[in-house]
Amino acid sequence: RAADRLLTVDSINTHYGESHILFDLSLAVDSDEIVALVGRNGAGKTTTLRSIMGLTPATDGTITKNGDPIHDLDPHEIRKRGLSWIPEERRVFGSLTVEENLRLAAHSGAGDQSDTFEEIYEQFPRLDERRTQKAGTMSGGEQQMLAIARALLGPETDLLLLDEPSEGLAPQIVDDVVDIIRELNESGVTILLVEQNAEMALELADRAYILETGEIVHESAAADLLDDRETMEGYLGVK
Ligand code: ATP
Repeated sequence: RAADRLLTVDSINTHYGESHILFDLSLAVDSDEIVALVGRNGAGKTTTLRSIMGLTPATDGTITKNGDPIHDLDPHEIRKRGLSWIPEERRVFGSLTVEENLRLAAHSGAGDQSDTFEEIYEQFPRLDERRTQKAGTMSGGEQQMLAIARALLGPETDLLLLDEPSEGLAPQIVDDVVDIIRELNESGVTILLVEQNAEMALELADRAYILETGEIVHESAAADLLDDRETMEGYLGVK
């Protein structure tokens, strides 16, 4: 399956100043997969995504995209290699309209546009209906949809890094977000999903990794992990 390998993270170590956060962390994502990275608060999930995007570069180890090393590149160069990241806090501008939010994202991703506004509105009809609505007045699920749309503008995206898309959302809205992520994946976007909501992530994902204090401690098919109640409880505190 080597030809299908989209992202390889091989033995990276990441620090914040003197604090050593990620320890020889390795993971892989194949084309068209949804891969979940789960773990408790502070395990290093966000840091893993930040290292992949070059925002908090790893101090050693290698990261490759389609076989090419990317760990020495700047974040905007990494973005041009087809990776896009949606941070936990989503970063939609509440006082701006949907359309203005999209314009800003398109502007900051300057250069070759792949998904145009019209393609985005076609893919997300709910945003089309709300072009002039202020983003801050939309539901959490709609804001997550807008955050995803923003991430797809700019250079072509084939790998989306999603940080806690369910955070702060009511269970019903989480279901909407699950549908959005599934549809996005079916449209050809590979997804690396970080979640504290392990059940949600594992129902969505093909494969899963558990991160504990900066180390990968478990790797399996997502469905197998969901059935493995001992591991779920031991590492994730899920009863
Ligand atoms: P959460 O689910 O709570 O967001 P996480 O698994 O995403 O947790 P990280 O945010 O990656 O975990 O944090 C991993 C560790 O790194 C934590 O101990 C955190 O306190 C520490 N950390 C995160 N950001 C910084 C920073 N900017 N400076 C110093 N330490 C940091």
